[in-house]
Amino acid sequence: MGKQSSNRKIAEEVIRFLDKHMLDPTPANYAFAFLYITESNGLLRKLVNDITDGGVRLTQGEVDDMMTNTTDDTAAIPSDAMDDIQKQLRHQALTFTELTTTALSDASTFNRDLAEGMEQIAAGFDFAGVISAMRQKTAEVERKLAETKKETEKLRLDLDAARNDASRDALTSLSNRRAMDEKIEEAFRKSARITIAFCDIDHFKSVNDRFGHAVGDRVLKAVADILQTGLAPYPVARFGGEEFVALFPDMAEAEAFGLIEQARITVGEKSFRVRDTDAPLGQVTFSAGIASTTSDPQQALQDADKALYEAKNSGRNRTICSAA
Ligand code: GH3
Ligand code: MG
Ligand code: MG
Repeated sequence: MGKQSSNRKIAEEVIRFLDKHMLDPTPANYAFAFLYITESNGLLRKLVNDITDGGVRLTQGEVDDMMTNTTDDTAAIPSDAMDDIQKQLRHQALTFTELTTTALSDASTFNRDLAEGMEQIAAGFDFAGVISAMRQKTAEVERKLAETKKETEKLRLDLDAARNDASRDALTSLSNRRAMDEKIEEAFRKSARITIAFCDIDHFKSVNDRFGHAVGDRVLKAVADILQTGLAPYPVARFGGEEFVALFPDMAEAEAFGLIEQARITVGEKSFRVRDTDAPLGQVTFSAGIASTTSDPQQALQDADKALYEAKNSGRNRTICSAA
């Protein structure tokens, strides 16, 4: 395909993409669709595919979020994961170098054979034999290069997987429990006091039951986004199913309570709708428990969990402080 017709095809696909998701034809949306169509931003493509899984449409807000969060590809990766990733990357770069070096050295041997062949041809020496040997050598080099290409592709996929697995929850892109446990221990070493909040979505099972798992997943992602944005720069993790933990180093319970309450109100005010049918999901809320410690982070986690339990038992959609 010529360059011109391939450009045209991309442009048509970009317009189809904008149409399909009913996005306005703004320059930013064009750029977004272009990145998606041309796959020049792998993380963005993955996020879009996760969201639209099950045929749901993208909203402008999601597009804006993704543009902000993925255009710098490394920005969404927690710093802890970077160490692992860098190690993997170094290892993979070495393997890749090894593979290409072998292929290149084969190619250069072939070049030498070619030169020798030419001399032999000039001397009028076994013409057919030389050609046949060269064909064999070409086939071998081609096979090695194809192998290298396959291996590179596998390394790329491994790297993507490593980025996601190490310390990040794939659905919400938040830190996972393992990463949060480490953050809590580290914050505890560095700070005189740490405060921990446990947030758990109320009656979440009924969202799944009424609207299906794919819609439940989108609700989880939306709540995760609100918590992350609303509580920034403090770290938030998806601790388990519909449970999130936020960490506030050097902060008293009362101040953390204010931040969690704001996030809780924001979630409660958001009108969630099913993309396909536009049907309202009804109010989504969460309950939270907060606890603080100067001596034992595991105890703070337990106390926050206990406060959460109290919040659930006293009517849900509220925050309770352990010390109160
Ligand atoms: P409560 O107010 O007491 O917290 O009620 P609840 O329904 O939120 O709590 P329960 O523990 O009974 O149910 C949690 C549900 O969360 C059940 C499980 O199917 C769902 N869940 C856990 N992880 C995921 C997920 O990744 N995606 C979706 N869609 N649902 C999930
Ligand atoms: Mg729960
Ligand atoms: Mg729940």
